[in-house]
Amino acid sequence: MLDAITGYNQLRASERLGVQGTVMFRLGSLRYFHLAYLGRHSPDDAIRQTLTDIAPGPDLILEGNGDVWRFGDTPKRGKRSFTYDAATDLFTDENYEAYPLSYDIDQIGAAKKKVAITFDDGPDPRWTPQILNILKEKSVPGTFFVIGVATSENPEILKREYAEGHEIGNHTYTHPNFDEITKTQIRWELNLTQRLIESTIGVKSILFRPPYGIDHQPEYAEEVAQLPIAQDMGYLIVGQKIDSHDWQQVAGAQIPEQEIINNVMRQAEDGNIILFHDGGGDRAHTVLALPRIIDALRAQGLRIRFGFRPHWQNARRSDDAAVDRRALAGSRGWLHFRNLSLAARGNRHHLYRRHRAGQRPRANHRHSGAD
Ligand SMILES: [Zn+2]
Repeated sequence: MLDAITGYNQLRASERLGVQGTVMFRLGSLRYFHLAYLGRHSPDDAIRQTLTDIAPGPDLILEGNGDVWRFGDTPKRGKRSFTYDAATDLFTDENYEAYPLSYDIDQIGAAKKKVAITFDDGPDPRWTPQILNILKEKSVPGTFFVIGVATSENPEILKREYAEGHEIGNHTYTHPNFDEITKTQIRWELNLTQRLIESTIGVKSILFRPPYGIDHQPEYAEEVAQLPIAQDMGYLIVGQKIDSHDWQQVAGAQIPEQEIINNVMRQAEDGNIILFHDGGGDRAHTVLALPRIIDALRAQGLRIRFGFRPHWQNARRSDDAAVDRRALAGSRGWLHFRNLSLAARGNRHHLYRRHRAGQRPRANHRHSGAD
């Protein structure tokens, strides 16, 4: 291993052999603190002392093979001690007292021959009912990752999704680029949408998918840095290894139906969660492709289930309502007043709806053996 300490020794040795300059080529995850002494011909104690502190690297540790993410570790700094010999200007010993930790992500929920079908960006009055009709006709459970703004305009569709036994997930309120917003806005986005879901169907969701998805093989810490916030709020982070690419446009039109089918079938055994869209644009080809994809998946021996145990209706009643109220109080500025009034209205309704929801048989239980 060439770490900062051994690298330092090598530089000193090469200088003594008359090497006039050194170039370091990055291999894998070179840690940035190498730069502390590179280019210095006579590093001093202050510079050497910086080597005791080890910053987390930019790399990620990904374990497992599923489409649902759980963060084990978030980055932590490491610590190192060393013995330095001034007479030879060499380190003679070093000891890692604490290793620097990167994001450690468990990818969970992998299962052979099982897939879950998910739809993002709805509810949409034009496309979602057509998709629900297909799912009903084929007896297939789906999961709808809804956007708060769309839900506030189409609450009846959300009710239908839930009543027909499908899962509901949180896909933020305004569909922002998740990497570019503040922590406060993330909490806002999730809490407002949660309140809307809860006030419409009487239950909370613990499923979350960030807008624009998560790359199933991210490489750098910055790509996932915001996601632990959602996990800390109690959500399961749901990815998608099988992307139908039905969001893709060619010359302003949705890609052809056959292409959507091919995209799914080509990856069908590479993951467990399939991504479609029921809102956010023209979804005519998604609607055409969906029944054919369901038939093709079944013909290939794949079973279509939920990707997650449907226990979210029993989700713990978290105390994030308090966070909501604080956020609401200090909110004037970035959300439209109309959205605030909807959220407030939702809160008033939810006791009533929760009561009613408890009275009727839960349609979800039809699929509760799924995993
Ligand atoms: Zn989306």
